[in-house]
Amino acid sequence: MADLDVVVVGAGFAGIYAVHALRSAGLRVRAFEAGSGIGGTWFWNCYPGARCDVESKDYSYSFSPELEQEWSWSERYPAQPEVLRYLNHVADRFGLWPDIQLNTRVTAAVWDSADSVWSVTTDDGVVRTARFCVMASGCLSEYQVPAIPGLSSFRGPWYHTSRWPREGVDFTGLRVGLVGTGSTGIQVAPEIARDASQLYVFQRTANFAVPNRNATVDPEAERSLKARYREYREEARASLLGVPVPGTGRPVLAEPPQDVQRTYMDRWQRGGGMPFLGAYTDLLVDRAANDTVAEFIRDRIRETVADQSVAELLCPWAYPVGAKRLCQSDDYFAMFNSPNVTLVDVRSSPITEVTPDGLRTSSEFYALDALVFATGFDAMTGALARIDIRGVDGLALTEKWTAGPRAYLGVATAGFPNMFLVTGPGSPSVLSNMVVSIEQHVEWITACIGHVLGGGYTQVEATAEAEKAWGEHVIEVAYSTLFPMADSWYIGANIPGKPRVFAPYIGGVGPYRERCDAVASAGYEGFVLTVSLRFLSREVGG
Ligand SMILES: Cc1cc2nc3c(=O)[nH]c(=O)nc-3n(C[C@H](O)[C@H](O)[C@H](O)COP(=O)(O)OP(=O)(O)OC[C@H]3O[C@@H](n4cnc5c(N)ncnc54)[C@H](O)[C@@H]3O)c2cc1C
Repeated sequence: MADLDVVVVGAGFAGIYAVHALRSAGLRVRAFEAGSGIGGTWFWNCYPGARCDVESKDYSYSFSPELEQEWSWSERYPAQPEVLRYLNHVADRFGLWPDIQLNTRVTAAVWDSADSVWSVTTDDGVVRTARFCVMASGCLSEYQVPAIPGLSSFRGPWYHTSRWPREGVDFTGLRVGLVGTGSTGIQVAPEIARDASQLYVFQRTANFAVPNRNATVDPEAERSLKARYREYREEARASLLGVPVPGTGRPVLAEPPQDVQRTYMDRWQRGGGMPFLGAYTDLLVDRAANDTVAEFIRDRIRETVADQSVAELLCPWAYPVGAKRLCQSDDYFAMFNSPNVTLVDVRSSPITEVTPDGLRTSSEFYALDALVFATGFDAMTGALARIDIRGVDGLALTEKWTAGPRAYLGVATAGFPNMFLVTGPGSPSVLSNMVVSIEQHVEWITACIGHVLGGGYTQVEATAEAEKAWGEHVIEVAYSTLFPMADSWYIGANIPGKPRVFAPYIGGVGPYRERCDAVASAGYEGFVLTVSLRFLSREVGG
């Protein structure tokens, strides 16, 4: 008999809910978390300015109406400490701690076909067997530091935003270099600029950003939302992005230009990224339509930044709005009006090396006391690739995915029975409100495991045919949009040598859920359910 029914890898939003859901289904579960606390993204990313860019009312669990009613968010877009407090509250409230083991990294998972169990090894040297593995290891948990020559010679401290010292960092009076201007760089920069004597922002790609208009939550608005929260959650589940976004429902190119400007300005004033992307039906599929919103945002940058040569450098031209994560900040662009902030264009003059005293580009040297990397993650597959995962006949997952990740519905991959991926490649994942996507996956996986065990099977595995057909669908949908036009981490472009495959599913959270439900209703179509050889070879599904 296996030591456990299910091993869960990771204890972020996904792992925490997986422990609760699987345990509630009567299974023996243990989650292993490499960090010294739970929370995943919200544990590791404790840099100043770290904040949700999906509203708190949406970026929260919906599985418990009681939890939903009890918890009150203080801000529209909560900062990292509040999200972390929320996740710890969830673990307390549902008594999850006994089944979560912190400070423990899963290093290997090896499938044993004869016994239909996974042997899971952790970095304390212990090996446990489990009938199922749920990989809740995160799409954005394996952080990435660029290989800049000379970094190890730097005399000052350097930090990656995803491994920020928990005691904080005092930049008062220091000359600081910031590398990376994506969502995180845009959040952390104004915080560093507040204290540093000089902040150099090294920008390779100018990015679109819209305001948050963050505010404290109005108690009356909270009361009225809570009165119809169930209904609201249903709308989120059926939506495209996992957030009910009121759009005009019309293509922008058919609208009178003055109406378009009014709509954009209204959304700019109210804040948030998703309302922008959902304003018109053609923004993410038609370049000319997208140009209308791109130009609107560029105009706001030109309006905000006093020095027009700096403003022009900050204006994004390299990709359509939304094809990379749309950043959100209330003060990033205005920060460049401060005398202690300098924008350095490393597209035209690339970084060549770090020296003991600073950073050199092909045209200049910048003396620095500290360096900050907001350079993101080996997204979607990085955390999985760092575990030695071996499926049928010892095949390594990394080997199977040499040409890019493949997973049926983004939840399971052929050759790796009884292993599930939460928000894996081929699911809406990072292109959605991730909490909605995580809950949907965890609930689907829990039901699937229940079906396997309830039917007396020992094994469930995605078929190669179903996986191939799904992969083709994911790519077909992606290439009917503007998303592949960006060199983004959605496509693996931020990691040298990584195969370029568009990983997330853009078909929408609601339609994706319907597809997953249909697969389950058809007896897990595209999966094969079997009883292991040790019992009797009895193949019944497919
Ligand atoms: C700064 C930042 C802001 C974000 N803001 C938003 C937002 O506003 N809205 C949104 O929808 N999404 C946002 N995201 C995406 C965010 O990652 C998800 O919303 C969500 O938190 C993911 O939860 P998760 O449990 O799937 O993964 P994670 O939170 O990444 O948790 C995975 C955990 O697995 C652990 N782990 C990995 N490998 C192993 C191993 N081998 N052994 C043991 N443990 C392991 C990691 O330590 C980590 O704690 C943001 C991401 C970042 C980085």
